[in-house]
Amino acid sequence: MDLKSPEPFWLVKNGLLDSYPSLKDDIECEILVVGGGITGALIAHQCIADGYDTVLIDKREVGYGSSSATTSMLQYEIDVPLYQLSALIGTEKAVASYKACSRAIDQLEAIAQEIGSKAGFERKKSLYFAAKKRDVAGLKKELEARAAAGFEVEWVSKSDLSHGFGLEKTNGGILSQQGASVDAFCLLHELLAYNQQRGLRVFDRTELKKVRHRKGDSLCTVVSGAKIQAQKVVYCVGYESQSMIKERFVNLLSTYAIVSEVDAYACRPIENLLIWNTDAPYIYMRCTDDGRVLIGGGDEKFRNPQKRDALLTRKARKLCRSFERLFPKRTFYTDFSWTGTFGETKDGLPYIAPHKDFKEAYFVLGFGGNGITFSVVGMEMLSFWLKGEIHPLQEAFAFGR
Ligand SMILES: Cc1cc2nc3c(=O)[nH]c(=O)nc-3n(C[C@H](O)[C@H](O)[C@H](O)COP(=O)(O)OP(=O)(O)OC[C@H]3O[C@@H](n4cnc5c(N)ncnc54)[C@H](O)[C@@H]3O)c2cc1C
Repeated sequence: MDLKSPEPFWLVKNGLLDSYPSLKDDIECEILVVGGGITGALIAHQCIADGYDTVLIDKREVGYGSSSATTSMLQYEIDVPLYQLSALIGTEKAVASYKACSRAIDQLEAIAQEIGSKAGFERKKSLYFAAKKRDVAGLKKELEARAAAGFEVEWVSKSDLSHGFGLEKTNGGILSQQGASVDAFCLLHELLAYNQQRGLRVFDRTELKKVRHRKGDSLCTVVSGAKIQAQKVVYCVGYESQSMIKERFVNLLSTYAIVSEVDAYACRPIENLLIWNTDAPYIYMRCTDDGRVLIGGGDEKFRNPQKRDALLTRKARKLCRSFERLFPKRTFYTDFSWTGTFGETKDGLPYIAPHKDFKEAYFVLGFGGNGITFSVVGMEMLSFWLKGEIHPLQEAFAFGR
């Protein structure tokens, strides 16, 4: 079967899980969360847990932004290696950022359990392998930096990767114990449904158009003309944030993903692994909970949607060939392929912070290859700020850093 779809696999797999009304009347709340992707759903979960009267709006159907396109590898490993990040921002902040992402994976597991999730959260090890011989020295440095910071890591040789996982054409790599995967689209729907039972109000097809800040609150007007009076606004608007903020803080790219047929043979050796490599752009892969291989990569440094979509067939073929090169004994039977926008920052870190041009508001923007773990870190940061407390990572994730 060679069924291709311009729609991400998760949308087809899950269908329309829930629908919410659009906002037609004026309302009031303590916290307005703008954006109903995985970030907005997690932030709303935290706000409800902290006892705030919370409203979430999305201009699309909830989950129809990047969260429907994601490959959802949950990694503590940031796109910039720890030893390089330490050189950029200092060891203390770099290690704290890595540790926060590691804790985020445990927290997400606890959330999945709390809400009785069926989104396929699975613990996995993470393999970061050297694509070229010349990358080995850097990876060994990275291994040392991570071990010194207390992460459970080991070096796996080229021949161990070949014998253990059937993975060829590598030069060895770092195997980390910490990692996981989940169906983020399903999880965000579950989070919204769970919190709706606890008082969360959700409106989709409700675009925020204008915000007027007043003493003590903000008057937010949505596309229908209805107004939301909110004490605080939390923007979880993903990559579209770049059009709201004057300065350039994220590079928007185009990225590609393919998923195979259900294929136990192809999945078996790597079903408990997240895999990525040192190539630029890097390739990343994992198995889904229904036994398919999922691969992403082929990033291009533009985000023009027409240009991006026109490359899909070629990119899908290339990703498929990459898999067969790495696993020469296996064939990749592509079932779905799609493309989406992706954002990278200068240091691989997210922007989770207030911004000087937006009063009584916060941004939670989990960019990079582990955007989802960053969003979980954002839950804790926001919770601190709403209580008037300082968070240890706020400088590292601030605008203008
Ligand atoms: C192919 C691909 C692979 C990826 N792989 C991984 C991975 O393996 N691991 C990982 O951690 N991350 C990965 N990412 C990144 C990850 O998907 C994102 O970090 C994450 O989905 C961002 O979620 P979000 O909720 O912040 O943004 P989105 O899901 O885009 O949600 C933002 C929402 O805000 C809404 N919105 C915007 N403006 C307004 C407005 N004015 N009014 C109302 N609503 C508004 C949008 O409609 C949208 O639904 C990948 C991304 C892609 C595209």
